[in-house]
Amino acid sequence: MTLKRLSPEELLGLDRFNVDEGHPHILVDRARCALCAARPCVTVCPARCYRLKDGQVAFDCAGCLECGTCRVVCKDQGVTSWTYPRASFGITFRCS
Ligand code: SF4
Ligand code: SF4
Repeated sequence: MTLKRLSPEELLGLDRFNVDEGHPHILVDRARCALCAARPCVTVCPARCYRLKDGQVAFDCAGCLECGTCRVVCKDQGVTSWTYPRASFGITFRCS
């Protein structure tokens, strides 16, 4: 049996997300982000929840893989709260 190698995008496409509208599990302070020169979150987030828009960091937790990387790399306290989503919300990882 030959296994098909999937790209990261194809693998992410298998996952299911249940977004908890109005209750983001990660909170980001944009004022603090404005003072952050390195902005590592934009580079390291595998789900691209952090993006640069008009020179500012924009954040949307929809599609978050709950890996915790942004919490670790944020040294300028822009991530003010990081928790897992409430039960039944967030990501469900699936295999092909
Ligand atoms: S690393 Fe932290 S402070 Fe810097 S842009 Fe990202 S969330 Fe904001
Ligand atoms: S927990 Fe991981 S996937 Fe979610 S926003 Fe942070 S770096 Fe991105």
